[in-house]
Amino acid sequence: NTSRTCPKCGHISKDNRKTQAVFCCKSCGYTANADENAAKNILREGLSRLAQEVNSKRSQHCEPTEAEQ
Ligand SMILES: [Zn+2]
Repeated sequence: NTSRTCPKCGHISKDNRKTQAVFCCKSCGYTANADENAAKNILREGLSRLAQEVNSKRSQHCEPTEAEQ
């Protein structure tokens, strides 16, 4: 559904994708190349997923080590 999500307002609709190449948001009117829009959404999702992984690893490293002492 990444190619159907508006990067400006987050509105998701199959109607957003006017044609294979042109994206047009029915909510805010944002218009862009659909492939370029999908790439932006994928990048954004990938970055947030990576940030979550980093946070979870960091919290594991911060666990108390009293049991080993
Ligand atoms: Zn929009």
